Amino acid sequence: MSMTPAIEPDETITSAFEDVVSGWDASFLRCQTTQIECRNPATWMAVLHKPCGHKPICAVHYNLWLAKAVLSIADYGYVGCPDCYQDFATIDQAAQFHPL
Ligand SMILES: [Zn+2]
Ligand SMILES: [Zn+2]
Repeated sequence: MSMTPAIEPDETITSAFEDVVSGWDASFLRCQTTQIECRNPATWMAVLHKPCGHKPICAVHYNLWLAKAVLSIADYGYVGCPDCYQDFATIDQAAQFHPL
């Protein structure tokens, strides 16, 4: 008589994996601004300079970012990145935006 236990799917791992996948999905579609936690749906894909990558953002934060960048370039001659601390002379160098 064999005492080998039956192999059962590990419920904990399976549901944890589903949590990660569904969580990733939801946050990907939501605005990913670093300024505050934003619950708006993302409508723009911000393609940032290297190494900051891509970031989906909502219309509100898209407009805020543009307004801040325009003011910063007008006042200081550059717009800075809060994540990598690089400075950019033009908006195009800092980020390009594509509608989702
Ligand atoms: Zn937002
Ligand atoms: Zn950056």
